[in-house]
Amino acid sequence: MTSSAELTSETAALIAAEDEHLAHNYHPLPVVIARGEGAWVTDVEGRRYLDLLSAYSALNFGHSHPAIVAAAREQLGRLTLTSRAYHNDVLGSFATALAALCGKDLVLPMNTGAEAVETGIKVARAWAYRVKGVPADAASIVVAHGNFHGRTTTIVGFSDDPDARDGFGPFTPGFVSVPFGDAQAIEAAIDESTAAVLVEPIQGEAGVVIPPEGYLRAVREICTRRGVLFIADEIQSGLGRVGATFACDREDVVPDVYLLGKALGGGILPVSAVAADRDVLGVIRPGEHGSTFGGNPLASAVGLQVVRMLSTGEFQERASALGAHLEKALEELVGSGVTAVRVAGLWAGVDIDPAKGTGREIAEKLLARGVLVKDTHGQTIRIAPPLVVRGTELDWAVEQLRVVLAA
Ligand SMILES: *Cc1c(COP(=O)(O)O)cnc(C)c1O
Repeated sequence: MTSSAELTSETAALIAAEDEHLAHNYHPLPVVIARGEGAWVTDVEGRRYLDLLSAYSALNFGHSHPAIVAAAREQLGRLTLTSRAYHNDVLGSFATALAALCGKDLVLPMNTGAEAVETGIKVARAWAYRVKGVPADAASIVVAHGNFHGRTTTIVGFSDDPDARDGFGPFTPGFVSVPFGDAQAIEAAIDESTAAVLVEPIQGEAGVVIPPEGYLRAVREICTRRGVLFIADEIQSGLGRVGATFACDREDVVPDVYLLGKALGGGILPVSAVAADRDVLGVIRPGEHGSTFGGNPLASAVGLQVVRMLSTGEFQERASALGAHLEKALEELVGSGVTAVRVAGLWAGVDIDPAKGTGREIAEKLLARGVLVKDTHGQTIRIAPPLVVRGTELDWAVEQLRVVLAA
């Protein structure tokens, strides 16, 4: 799988061990990381790399952020898991802080992003039957082409990415997909059985696809007028990445339901949540939904620290200022090996001219120059540095991209 000829023996041996006993559901870049601090990681040979992926925005605060690590360590020595069969002394503070950050009454903690999406789907359906009066088992949810909401069988069933979907059917019915960025298509897809519209405010996995200005406001207006829940999957776009707490904030829009994950776990462990008001999330009754690990004390302590850090607005401001800086630098590459750039806060999709190679080839060349990025959908590379990165580091990274594209 990996061309190990040019790799040193320790790196090659570690990669071979993975290749031997891991299911091949990923195709990682040939680098074996041993340490991480802030925006930088170090491989087993001691080489350093600037991490411009941040674990798909799960590391918004960088590797080993001291305040998050301290919160985790303190909790690790005290209490890690109770299950929700009992109360624990951290979950309430986490829920209170997260609800306040979201401006919502209630939160429902889970672990992974896909679980938050599944929870949102269940909440929307229960709301449709119990509040809206949709006939049993008839509720539908409108989604967008190009979506990425996770990997469960229900979720991949409404994906239009053949890699995600093909070979995994039969799929859960009840989803209608319309073009992303087209509010009129959403309006046309809604009928009396529609429970919700579920969209990413900016599509991350699709290549940082930003909808036309006014789209989110239009979705909000349509959902309100037609009596349908607006569910925003902010798992990758939320929690500071776009220069605001949520990508919906860019259009001053408040969805009925936020789906959160990734950065909520502070880069330490999976923490996800659904946030909504009581009239929506209150439909779920004891015993109807849950998770052995959801809301565990360790996750709550980490999530609480993340919410505290976001409450100051400092990270959102950094993302906004550094994002403007990054956008300017990347725009200068358009026409020189780059065909298009889309930037929202500290988040960029960079389309590579096929004449210069695939996204994967560019990522491999950047790796050799100490910069880690991830390709998506063939020709796009996604840039999502930790929000603690410095402007000078971004300049250096863009310079490496310029050199790679000039070659
Ligand atoms: C990553 C992602 C998910 C799934 O999260 P997991 O933690 O990998 O299950 C869902 N929605 C969006 C928008 C994502 O980016």
